[in-house]
Amino acid sequence: MALIVQKYGGTSVGTTDRIKNVARRVARFHREGHQLVVVVSAMSGETNRLLALAKELSANPNPRELDVVAATGEQVTIGLLAIALEEMGFKARSYTGGQVRILTDNAFTKARILSIDEQNMRADLEAGTIVIVAGFQGVDAEENITTLGRGGSDTSGVALAAALKADECQIYTDVDGVYTTDPRIVPEARRLDTVTFEEMLEMASLGSKVLQIRSVEFAGKYQVKLRVLSSLEDPMVTSRGTLITFEEDHSMEQAIISGIAFTRDEAKISVMGVEDKPGIAYAILGPVAAANIDVDMIVQNIGASGHTDFSFTVNRSEYQKALDVLARERGKVFKAREIIGDSKICKVSVVGIGMRSHVGLASKMFKSLADEGINIQMISTSEIKISVVIDEKYLELAVRVLHKTFELDKPPVPIAGSAV
Ligand code: ASP
Ligand code: MG
Repeated sequence: MALIVQKYGGTSVGTTDRIKNVARRVARFHREGHQLVVVVSAMSGETNRLLALAKELSANPNPRELDVVAATGEQVTIGLLAIALEEMGFKARSYTGGQVRILTDNAFTKARILSIDEQNMRADLEAGTIVIVAGFQGVDAEENITTLGRGGSDTSGVALAAALKADECQIYTDVDGVYTTDPRIVPEARRLDTVTFEEMLEMASLGSKVLQIRSVEFAGKYQVKLRVLSSLEDPMVTSRGTLITFEEDHSMEQAIISGIAFTRDEAKISVMGVEDKPGIAYAILGPVAAANIDVDMIVQNIGASGHTDFSFTVNRSEYQKALDVLARERGKVFKAREIIGDSKICKVSVVGIGMRSHVGLASKMFKSLADEGINIQMISTSEIKISVVIDEKYLELAVRVLHKTFELDKPPVPIAGSAV
């Protein structure tokens, strides 16, 4: 007998038929003798609809009230799933985040989980009851309803699994696992049987939408065994999906490169002809950070005659705001010859823990992009990824070419002698 946390996303509970399907799968695991905690999202499109209602009334709704509204989506699905399971003859009980007591801070619309009281859930599980918990929501110390940010049900699932020390956390979604890249761009993309937690973290932050990044961070921190699976398959079938592993459990079958990730919605800002002196990066990026704008890649050139150029990328939705901040600060905290921007860029990244022990991957990447005439505008690397910024019109081409260059369409060849 195992304790399993299953999380179902919006598409998986998008209709009452699909909810019945979820109930069948939950019932099967229960019949096999497992204890189950099921976390659900709102029905697909519902959170968007609720947030849009609030926007009809105010351009700037009070975040506390926005959470009161947004959290109702998940309350509907927990009740419906409990009803479906009871109809099938099982004992089930639904819980809102507050009823479990998923305690969060009070950062409305992007709250962080502080603690989870597992007492009530445990008692239910011992009594053979299937526990159903609303994803995406919690409650702060003053009993205000909070939400965890878009896609937050993944984090709810992983956090519950961590709190309950579950044997496995299964994330059911509309794809059957994590792929080497988006199959809509590369039809030959393959499902990965395993991917390491660190690779998944890179992929989530580099644009793969399969898991909310915070949930991956959580899984890493608490060593939660996480698996991504499809909810749209026959509920009686057991598929393997993709298991997120920790590097130490990794076998020799690990490919050097695991995937190609990308983000479309990037923008680049270059501050040209700034003084080449201590404190200049802070003078430029300090005000940007103070305006709560996330900066991603940063490049500063080697200066000539006391001046240098400084470039960085931001999410496209914050591009104008960042330009405004710089325009305001220019001449006050820093001087610049010119500030230019380009919002038609994207970022393509190659990810793999095999990079640690293999050299020459960057030049292989750069050569294959060069062969296609794709100009690289910026480069950043970490131990396990190489990212480049390119013109957005080459995104699909770059992803396809890199997928081919690193032979991701073929099953991984064991890394020879990898003793890392
Ligand atoms: N319903 C929430 C959203 O759409 C949370 C989730 O689905 O994970 O963002
Ligand atoms: Mg999701």
